[in-house]
Amino acid sequence: MKNNLKQIRFVLQGFMMRLLYGRNGFDNLARLCYGLSMILLVVNIFASSVIIYFTWIGLFAYSMFRTFSKNITKRYAENKKYLEMTNGIRKRAGLVKLQWRDRKTSRYYICKSCHQQIRVPKGKGRIEIRCPKCSERFIKRT
Ligand SMILES: [Zn+2]
Repeated sequence: MKNNLKQIRFVLQGFMMRLLYGRNGFDNLARLCYGLSMILLVVNIFASSVIIYFTWIGLFAYSMFRTFSKNITKRYAENKKYLEMTNGIRKRAGLVKLQWRDRKTSRYYICKSCHQQIRVPKGKGRIEIRCPKCSERFIKRT
């Protein structure tokens, strides 16, 4: 039984690999569109709006188009541009996540001159922080 499942998974994996061979694959931009389309799908259960419905179809179709596109060079360039454009937001989101994870022990600051992320222990009062990368000093309350 266990072996059967393994075999099925092996076959499915092979199938997926053949299906995506020479294709762009599920890149970040495709993932974003797919994620958004799934959110819209759920929202539309309650909203049942035609506009949301067509936006959903559009986003879903676009994510599939990207995944199975054979023009990898062009898709790669688009994906890269998307990553560059959202770099600031994604960095900030990552920082918020870290802040939350370490909220009891540490605080995170961004160096104003070089944008290096600096972690300092919490509860030390007003301290002078020196950026390890560019040696800029600034005072913060932790
Ligand atoms: Zn710095």
